[in-house]
Amino acid sequence: MSKDIKTQVVVLGAGPGGYSAAFRAADLGLDVVLVERYNTLGGVCLNVGCIPSKALLHLAKHIEDAKHMSAEGIEFSEPKIDLDKIRKHKEKVIGQLTGGLDQMSKMRKVKVVNGLGKFTSDTSLKVEGDDGETVINFENAIVAVGSQSIKLPFVPHDDDRIWDSTDALELPFIPDRMLVLGGGIIGLEMGCVYSALGSKVDVVEMTDQLVPPADKDIIKSFMKQISGKFDNIMLNTKAAKVEAKKDGIHVTFEGDKAPEKPVKYDAVLVAVGRAPNGAKIDADKAGVKVTDRGFIEVDKQLRTNVKNIFAIGDLVGQPMLAHKAVHEGHVAAEVISGQKHYFDPKVIPSIAYTDPELAWAGLTEKEAKEQGVDYEVAVFPWSASGRAIAQGATAGMTKLLFDKNNRIIGGATCGPNAGELLGEICLAIEMGCDAEDIALTIHAHPTLHESIGLAAEVQEGSITDMP
Ligand code: FAD
Repeated sequence: MSKDIKTQVVVLGAGPGGYSAAFRAADLGLDVVLVERYNTLGGVCLNVGCIPSKALLHLAKHIEDAKHMSAEGIEFSEPKIDLDKIRKHKEKVIGQLTGGLDQMSKMRKVKVVNGLGKFTSDTSLKVEGDDGETVINFENAIVAVGSQSIKLPFVPHDDDRIWDSTDALELPFIPDRMLVLGGGIIGLEMGCVYSALGSKVDVVEMTDQLVPPADKDIIKSFMKQISGKFDNIMLNTKAAKVEAKKDGIHVTFEGDKAPEKPVKYDAVLVAVGRAPNGAKIDADKAGVKVTDRGFIEVDKQLRTNVKNIFAIGDLVGQPMLAHKAVHEGHVAAEVISGQKHYFDPKVIPSIAYTDPELAWAGLTEKEAKEQGVDYEVAVFPWSASGRAIAQGATAGMTKLLFDKNNRIIGGATCGPNAGELLGEICLAIEMGCDAEDIALTIHAHPTLHESIGLAAEVQEGSITDMP
């Protein structure tokens, strides 16, 4: 017999979008049920995304740093890799965070129902769980069912040497030779991890640059710093055939940098993007429109075409990032509680937590051109930064974009800790700062974030001589 629950708000999916929406709605005094098909909260981000990848990248960075200190006079012996301990460390980090979410749901009296949820009408959901079926009758729903890795039709995904990001994060083994198929952020982050652990890593990317959304000049700086980590970066090239054979995965390439013969790999990571889960929740039974690609369209209040049903996170479009999902979740909950809020940010920062990091926010130069925005660019190369010289990061750069009124509209950095530096650029754009505001802000010396102040001084024409 099925259980029946009545609630003011049901949230379907407990990733960063879903749990943030549920918590905000509960904080606003609403009665909330959170539905999640897995037994842990946190979604892709906490369990198989942002957090485990960063735990591994942190270890990888230590290995890389130790490798490269001999020129400065310090030599370490070869690192001994204990994959079991690394896996345990990663699981501990995940557990700490997902456990924290359990506590927070309890504190807020958010009722968690585990099981696969599907709509049965515009006011009801059916959840199939291990302990039977639950029917949830709701006044409002927030759909946050996220996305999953895209599979390629010509790739034998059932072979355990062919990985998606979730498989790669499990660290099944350290391949001698590995191919990262797709030169986007997720593939490159995992490529950096495996390269540090000892794999020879090739990267194949169909377009003419790694991380296609970023500007060419910042990618030039990125390539200078990252190319040593990878054996072969094949741009303008695609994997045309992937065959799983006994002795390895044989990949045939086509394009500018394609090797003449198929190349044999011990593992292939397919990282060609993520597809939304919109088509899997019987949205039609609630009257909610889903696009051919599985996205759900929403307005600036995150409302779908059905008045009492909202959608957030990866499910509603690019950029598929956790912080975007969180902010959307907050807005959806606030709108349901009667507040007149909108999701209308000036910046949604993007960061590749590779080694080096690559980070950008606001308009890129590409976007400024496409949108016909009048802009000026100010660049501060890290070869002129005392701190960057001291830590051997002279190939890094900071770039700011200003509009015709000298107001900052975008920015990007590449080098160690670039992601941390980006916070200042985001705030400056949201606050509508002009170049003078940034240039007159005293930045501590010697820091890498000083490069942001110095780029603004370049724009002001008032650059000083202090590197
Ligand atoms: P998700 O996190 O996908 O959560 C959706 C939840 O819904 C899941 O828990 C799922 O089990 C549940 N669900 C789905 N269908 C149902 C159903 N029918 N019934 C019940 N439950 C259901 N983003 C960043 O901002 N920074 C990063 O560093 C970063 N690193 C990443 C690294 C990797 C390897 C990957 C794969 C992604 C990374 N991302 C990163 C992206 C980030 O994880 C996503 O943007 C984010 O998790 C999206 O949140 P969400 O709430 O929309 O959905």
